Amino acid sequence: MLILNQTRVRELLPMRDCMEVVGRALSGLARGEGVQPLRAGFVRPDRRGVLAWMPGSLAAEQAFGIKVLSVVDDPGELGVELHQGAVMIFDPATGSPLALCEAGAITAMRTAAVSALATDKLARRDATTLAILGAGTQARSHIEAMLAVRPIERIWMWSRTPVTSERVAAENSEIHGVPIEVAADAASAVADVDVVCTTTSARDPVLFAEMLEPGMHINAVGASIPSWREIEPGVVPMVSLFTDRRESLRNEAGEYIEAIETGLVQPGLVVPELGEVLIGDHPGRTSETDITLFRSLGLAVEDIASAQLVYERAVERKIGIEVDMMA
Ligand code: NDP
Repeated sequence: MLILNQTRVRELLPMRDCMEVVGRALSGLARGEGVQPLRAGFVRPDRRGVLAWMPGSLAAEQAFGIKVLSVVDDPGELGVELHQGAVMIFDPATGSPLALCEAGAITAMRTAAVSALATDKLARRDATTLAILGAGTQARSHIEAMLAVRPIERIWMWSRTPVTSERVAAENSEIHGVPIEVAADAASAVADVDVVCTTTSARDPVLFAEMLEPGMHINAVGASIPSWREIEPGVVPMVSLFTDRRESLRNEAGEYIEAIETGLVQPGLVVPELGEVLIGDHPGRTSETDITLFRSLGLAVEDIASAQLVYERAVERKIGIEVDMMA
């Protein structure tokens, strides 16, 4: 089994290649290939974080595996990243473990790559402005992802701690050569922009219905557990909603569950999956004034597809630490 640390994963998983493999994984799921159970987990007895596990399989003859994550409540104070763990993939022919890849770098890249695919299909073609709410790992990878699919000319960033957003904005402006301004609040960041990415760990809404504007596209990335809300439930009936997996949306997206329970949307609403748009089973955006929202919950098949690519490249380049598990 090959062990690949964060540096190796970053080196072997560029955005465009990650977009290609996660796009194939989501298309496969939409065609009924692969296996994607819901994630599971438990809150630690000290209530300072959770252990989550996300199993899944790509189509027949491709890798299957699991991501195991420790998610801590105060990553900044502890000086660690929010997601720590590994993605383990197995050989479909022998069932033997192939690789153990650092999970944080895969999660950062694959989540943003999926949002890039959603944006490419759902945002207006002439979108040039972007707002990023949050200034953490996902905020950074989403800047790169959005620049990969639209000619973004200006970015507004807002986060809870202004000093963090100032630093992250300056660093990323330098990296990508695009002006990034720090907004005083979420409403000013979002005003008049074409694409919005919500990438915070907020448990209460930061994006409200009154902030939406015709023609906008939103990637809603944070709040993956039902008791949290990053966006107000009142947003749901205002948008053309898309998601990565309907089963995850129904079980994990707090604002959607609340919108159903309070009658804001009908339980029979069939929310299209991104994979269905990718394979042409759904048209995606249908007018210039539509407000589209891609609700990302995150799927193991995205992690496994990314880990499989990292593994294949590591084998080609003869890098990583090989461990004989049966020695
Ligand atoms: P980070 O810890 O790197 O960043 C979190 C960001 O959220 C920081 O900018 C922080 O602000 C901000 N924040 C934290 N608490 C609050 C709050 N109460 N109100 C407003 N802002 C807050 O996390 P990640 O970037 O790794 O993850 C961000 C979110 O995305 C999480 O909710 C995570 O669970 C989710 N996620 C979703 C995935 C998916 O597939 N959909 C995959 C991975 C993550 P500041 O630093 O300014 O204080």
